[in-house]
Amino acid sequence: MKPDDLRRRLEFYQDIGVKTLYRQPAAAQVSDAETAEASAAEPAGTPAAAAEQAAIILPPLAPVGDTLPLILEDIGDCRRCRLHEGRNKIVFGVGNDRSPLVFVGEGPGADEDAQGIPFVGRAGQLLTQMIEGTAKKEGIELRREDIYICNVVKCRPPENRTPEADEMEICGQFLHRQLSAIAPKAICALGGTAARALTGRKEGVTKMRGHWLEWRSIPVMVSYHPSYLLRPYNQDAKREAWEDLKKVLHFVYD
Ligand code: URA
Repeated sequence: MKPDDLRRRLEFYQDIGVKTLYRQPAAAQVSDAETAEASAAEPAGTPAAAAEQAAIILPPLAPVGDTLPLILEDIGDCRRCRLHEGRNKIVFGVGNDRSPLVFVGEGPGADEDAQGIPFVGRAGQLLTQMIEGTAKKEGIELRREDIYICNVVKCRPPENRTPEADEMEICGQFLHRQLSAIAPKAICALGGTAARALTGRKEGVTKMRGHWLEWRSIPVMVSYHPSYLLRPYNQDAKREAWEDLKKVLHFVYD
């Protein structure tokens, strides 16, 4: 690949949030110790990164005319990160692939891993109730199946731990392709992990919630993760989450 093409490609990855590329384990010029580490390359777009072109794997660019079925096909029987080791089912996403609103959570839990569908456990039931209940109260005709729901990572992290940075980057390419293919009017990030993954911000959810941020020029409303709202002492957060949801629903459907 010519240096200019490589630079353009690396800039594209930066734009879609991919900040780290991983070395090809079999590359002849890389030592065994380095390959075992699968160490991060130089920041994309720098001359040093360009010099490493022979030794890095370039994830495919989002194809023109990308679709959710194509993305799912590319994910395949994914083993790109360690999360595949404990998963039962890949949880790709569910709902209307032309939805003007997409909800993004953190990663599947036990129920989602068993069924292969996002947000079907207790937190998911609360999310469904909140979406349908708030819409109804606000005079908006909307069912869960009318919107699209997915997660930053598609495989359940062990013990429901927060996904690690490399896992989010590797899986993030598929989230970015999903969002590009759907091209919603707005995105609702559920919880700090999803908000940080989409916006690159570093703050906690309490600072970001209720505010409009952006993912590639698409407005992102940040709100609490529904599992946080399930805790009995979080009544204030529940009220705030309802406010966030009202804001996003009116923005999209008015
Ligand atoms: N929590 C998430 O972040 N996503 C799910 O799909 C379920 C629970």
